[in-house]
Amino acid sequence: MADLALRIRGLRRRYGATVALDGLDLDVPRGVICGLVGPNGAGKTTTMGIVAGLIRPDAGTVDVLGEGPFDPTRHAGRVGLLPQDCAMPASLPVGEVLAYYGRLQGLSTSMARRAADRLLDEVDLADRAGQRIGQLSHGMRRRVAVAQALIGDPELVLLDEPTSGLDPHLVVRMRALLRTRRGRCTIVVSSHILAELEATCDHVIFMERGRCTAAGSMAELTGRSRQVIVELEPGLDAPALVPSLQGAGLRAQVDGTRLVVTGPTGEGTAALNARLLPVLLAAGAPIVEVQAGRSLEATWMASRADPPPGPKPG
Ligand code: ATP
Repeated sequence: MADLALRIRGLRRRYGATVALDGLDLDVPRGVICGLVGPNGAGKTTTMGIVAGLIRPDAGTVDVLGEGPFDPTRHAGRVGLLPQDCAMPASLPVGEVLAYYGRLQGLSTSMARRAADRLLDEVDLADRAGQRIGQLSHGMRRRVAVAQALIGDPELVLLDEPTSGLDPHLVVRMRALLRTRRGRCTIVVSSHILAELEATCDHVIFMERGRCTAAGSMAELTGRSRQVIVELEPGLDAPALVPSLQGAGLRAQVDGTRLVVTGPTGEGTAALNARLLPVLLAAGAPIVEVQAGRSLEATWMASRADPPPGPKPG
C-alpha cells in the first residue's frame, strides 16, 4: 500500500434520502496527476470533502497517504484542497491571504511569505499581491485559490474544478503549472472538460452514481498503449482491408470510415504502427489520420453507454 496516495473502500454517504456515495472503491497511486471524471452529482465533491476531513462518511474506509483517514495532526501540512466554492476573505490583500494559508500548512512566517510570492508568480498574479481579494475578477480569485491549495508543497493536492471560469489561455497556463508538480506530489483533479484532463493527467477515475466505474492509467483506459485508430477517406471499402491486417497478426474492426486496430498487450503503438502502416500503404488505403487510442471523451462516452446499476442521485 506504500505506493498509494489514496485508498478508498466501500465509502458511503447520504444526504437525507440522497445517496451521494454508494460503496465507492478507488486507488490513486502516489506521484500521479489523477483526473476524476463524472457527471453532475456523481459524488466527486463529496469524495474530496471526505478525503480532506471536511465531511464524515456513513461507512467505508479512507486511507490518506498510508496513514488512515484524514487527521489534522497526522496529516498537518500534507494535504492541500481547492474546494469547488472557495471563499477567501474579500477585504484582505492577496499576498497576505496566501501567506496565511501557508502558515496554516505549517510554514514559518518568512517561508510562508516567500512561498506566497513564488506561487503568485506561478499563477501570473505577482502584480496583484497588494490588492484585496474582493477587487479580483472571478478567474483571478480562482488562481489564488489554486495557489492556496499548493502552498507548502503538500504531498496530496485535491483540486475540485480548478479551471472553472478561466479563459483558454489561463487553462493552458494552469495545465503547465500542474505538470511542474508531476512526480513531486499526487494531484487529484476534477473537471468536466475532458480534453483538459487528457492533456494533464496520467491516471483517470470514472465515477457514476457514487461508485467508481473505471480506473487506470490514461494510456490503458484510452487504449493509447495498444490501439491505433486509422481514419480513412470516405467511400473506401474499409472491410476489404481487414483480412490483410489479420494476415499480419492484427485485430481490426471497422467503425464507419475508421479502422480500429488492436495489437497484443505490451507491444506498444510504435511497434503496432510499424506492422500496420506498411499493410495499409501496400493496399493503397487513403489514410487521413492515425491516432493512438481514443480520446478521453470518447472513452468516457463509451463507458456511459452501459452504466452500472444503482440508485439514482437526487
Ligand atoms: P458536480 O459535478 O455537479 O460538482 P459532484 O460529482 O461533485 O457534482 P456532489 O457534489 O458530491 O457531486 O454531490 C453528490 C450528490 O449529493 C448529489 O446528488 C448532490 O445533490 C448531493 N449533495 C451534495 N452535497 C449535499 C448537501 N450538502 N446536502 C444535500 N445533498 C447534497
